Amino acid sequence: MTLKSKNAIVTGSTSGIGLAYARALASEGANVMINGFGKAEDIEAERAKIESEFGVKAVYSPADMTKPDQIAGMVKQGVDAFGSVDILINNAGVQHVEPIETFPIDKWDQIIAINMSAAFHAMRAAIPGMKAKGWGRIISTASAHSLVASPFKSAYVTAKHGLVGLSKTAALELATHGVTVNCISPGYVWTPLVENQIPDTMKARGLTRDQVVNDVILSAQPTKQFVTVDQVAAIAVFLCSDSAAQITGANISVDGGWTAE
Ligand code: NAD
Repeated sequence: MTLKSKNAIVTGSTSGIGLAYARALASEGANVMINGFGKAEDIEAERAKIESEFGVKAVYSPADMTKPDQIAGMVKQGVDAFGSVDILINNAGVQHVEPIETFPIDKWDQIIAINMSAAFHAMRAAIPGMKAKGWGRIISTASAHSLVASPFKSAYVTAKHGLVGLSKTAALELATHGVTVNCISPGYVWTPLVENQIPDTMKARGLTRDQVVNDVILSAQPTKQFVTVDQVAAIAVFLCSDSAAQITGANISVDGGWTAE
């Protein structure tokens, strides 16, 4: 129970990688605030399950990551519920796959807001409390697309590269305050985000579903296997440990060798 007495917020944790982070932190004793969209009864079931399974406090914030005031409110809700926010995981993310010349402007704005600017707003609200305690962990889910590009993912690639720049800047600002700031960059992880982009990728590239899975998605990863949500969450738990106190400003790849090529 390395994280007993720590309090965490994980954005975009009603599903996929975020839910795995929340459950992994809770399994180490941290209280967790989950956030994201979905059916109210499903979210409540996940929240209650975290409490009963791991014996921690779990609360839910419905904050929309496109809304700066709601993001600040989420951090305040965390402080009110737990007494402090020690761990912030910026994880909410969406994708849209289309060539630049027809890429919808509202999709560009939405992806930049959720995948990049939300992390700034959450850091801005959470940093004063972490500095006051002299301890904190800020982790953001970037992507292999923070290091390399793919066609038709302009907003996503831009946001993920920006997220890494933001995290490096925060790491320098907080280096003497006991607060580390890092990114985790997964390759393809089988979650609804990947499932949902298959139809658009079929359209953008003129391929069948099997061709997209095997020739576009898994062809990017030399291991030819999907990363699992638990493999990503394990890195976050490690980054929250004292063993990782000197890891800051890093961008850790969990991508089956994708960005080695
Ligand atoms: P997912 O679709 O399973 O989960 C996304 C989460 O974000 C959900 O909880 C959703 O409700 C939430 N969300 C979406 N819009 C939101 C908003 N406006 N406000 C608050 N929450 C919102 O996707 P995932 O694959 O688990 O993705 C999680 C993160 O991991 C994203 O940042 C994504 O870019 C990143 N990532 C995913 C992969 C992958 O292959 N799945 C690879 C690299 C990086």
